Order: sequence, then structure tokens, then C-alpha cells
Amino acid sequence: MQCPLCNGPAEIVFRRCGQPGSVHMPPGQTVELAIAGCRDCGFFWNVDAFADPVAFTALLAPAYRAYNLLDNDLHGFPLVDERTRTAKGFLDAHCHWPALSYVVEVGSNRGDFLAYLKQCHAHLQLLGVESSPLSLVGVPTLFNDVHDIHFSPSFDLVIARQVLEHMADPLRFLLHLASFVREGGWLLIEVPVLENELAEGVDPWVVEHVGHYSARALEVLGQRAGLTLVAVEDSYQFSALFRRAPHPGPLFTGISNARWEQVRAFLAGVEEQQARWREWAEQGGAICFYGASNVYLAISAALRQAWGEDFWRDCRLTLVDDSPSRHAEEVGGLRVQSLESYAPEGKTLYVVCAMYQYHRQKMVPRVLARMGPEDRLSAMWTPLPR
Ligand SMILES: [Zn+2]
Repeated sequence: MQCPLCNGPAEIVFRRCGQPGSVHMPPGQTVELAIAGCRDCGFFWNVDAFADPVAFTALLAPAYRAYNLLDNDLHGFPLVDERTRTAKGFLDAHCHWPALSYVVEVGSNRGDFLAYLKQCHAHLQLLGVESSPLSLVGVPTLFNDVHDIHFSPSFDLVIARQVLEHMADPLRFLLHLASFVREGGWLLIEVPVLENELAEGVDPWVVEHVGHYSARALEVLGQRAGLTLVAVEDSYQFSALFRRAPHPGPLFTGISNARWEQVRAFLAGVEEQQARWREWAEQGGAICFYGASNVYLAISAALRQAWGEDFWRDCRLTLVDDSPSRHAEEVGGLRVQSLESYAPEGKTLYVVCAMYQYHRQKMVPRVLARMGPEDRLSAMWTPLPR
């Protein structure tokens, strides 16, 4: 098996069957998930998605159409959080803002990041590109699949934050973005950090995230799209800054085995938790999943596969979520209720299903406040001290 980015030697790491996919997909529809990893560049990817990007994109299209990432009622505009400031700080460190005028962001959502940049640099001319039809945006935005939009290479800065990891044909995507960048212009890419997700016990293998990049993987991909990687920053997110300029030589060489070791250790930890939770359920303990999210779908699909459908059906399972719009909906076979309305009988294992640290930080205290002496708490696959 060969890496789709660097052609290096690669192998399947694990398979999960019957993944329910995304919470936005029709109930009952499942997908197979096989994750492979590259020994050279450290790229991990969803094998089926990359084998047939067109079919995979079509499968997830209804899910992406139903996306509304930021609730207008809940967040003022522009929303400026820690991740926004980090991304801006990274650009500050490497770009000379007076030399930049025309900025386009792909996957701009409501335009929060662009509006924040404009607050800091009033001379910028902004444009957003967004595939989900949002009802409210704060910057001029084109609504379309970015691959159907064409510009001359005229932008000083192109931005794509938390988009590349969704792309089953990343080379096509990056080539397309590169075609927007003027000679000497910049491209900012931001993706999740696999190591952070693994270290936090977060299950990174949600169906929508098809590519898990390393610095070397991003550099190789950039080269193939005619872009030079000039800087990276590895904080909570992975930021990579490319330039449409001649290539001075590689910034990164092949990876160490650390990433592989971490993936293996994580998978062993998942198996251990699956066995412990099974024991818990066998002893009559209830399990309450908190967060009707894609993370819950990923966890529950892994459990169903490990435990078998019959055992899963006999467990005392509850699914709770904070969003009132989800309540009474069925997600992954369980009816969603509010955490407040959950009335446990006997001991309960609470499993917090949050992809992001800042979500989890809000959810864990709410569970701790409800827990009895016999109850237990896990954040994803990671057991937490009470
Ligand atoms: Zn590779």
C-alpha cells in the first residue's frame, strides 16, 4: 500500500464496520471506516474516502448542507476565541500586513475570522466562500462548492481553516486554492493536530475527518500543488503557511515513529476501555453518553462492533445533549434527552462525547455536579478522576 501524498510505504491501521457516519446523515445509513497510515510522512487517512472521493463527497453532501456550525442566537459577531487569536498571531509573525490587500477565506462560515482581520487591518478587501447555505453572514460571501468557483491568481492571502481534513482529494483541493494565489502570495491552512486528539483521548476517526496531517505530509502536498511551506505552528491547531514562490529545499524530513507509537497506544487504550465498560454494563451499570455528536456515533459504532449488537441492545443506554433542537430526535438508535431530565437508576458511567477541549471543559463540570459516589466519568475513551 502506498501513501496518497508522498507515495511512501503505508498500511491499514484498523477497520470499523457499520459507522453511522454523521449526525446529519439519514438514520440507518452506515459507512465502513478503514484508517491507513504512512511510514514516511506520517499521514493517516480514510482509505475508502480516498479510493473514491466523488462517491464519498456525494455520500456526505446532505450532511454538509445541513451544517450550521455557529448558532447565530448563541454567539455575537464576530466570534473571537483563542483559536482565532492564535491564527491571527501566526499570520502576524510571518506576513507583512500592509503588503496584503485581497483576502479570500474558503469555508468562511459566518465570516467571523475575516471580520476579525478587518477589525485589525481596515484596508483589507475580504471575500468569503462557503458551501453551506447559512442564513446570516457578516462578510461578502459566495455560496458554492469552492471547486465550482474560479478566480484569476489575484489574491494576496488565501485562508482555509478546518477544511483540508474534510477533503478526500486534497491535491485537487490544494491545486485549486493555489490557483487563487498571486505569485509571491500566501496560503494559510489549519488542521487539527492528531497528537493532541490522541493525547486527550478524543476519538479522531470521525467519518468527516478523512485526512490526519503531519508537517511533512502538508509540505509534500504543498509541493505537489506548486506551493512552498514556509512556516508551521503546532499549538492546539496545526497552522501551516505556504507561499507561491520557488522552493528553497525541504523544511521537514521523514517523521519519527512517535506518531505511530501514539496511534498504537491509543488503539490499545480504546480496547481496554471497551472491555472495562462492558464489565460495567455486565454488572448492571447504566451508560449515559453526553453529546449527540459525531463523536458519539464514532464511539457507539466501535462499541457495537466490539460488543456485538445483541449485547449492545441489552445495555442500559441513554443519550443526552445540551442543544434543545436535538431533544426527542433519534441519533444513532437512541432518543436524545436533556441532561437534566436524565434520571439514573443505580450506578451510571457518564461518557462525555466532545471533540474539542473547550466543549469538554464546559461539559465535565455539569456531569461532576450530578454524579453519585458509585458513578464514573470518561471523557471519550479517557477515564477521568472524580
Ligand atoms: Zn506519506
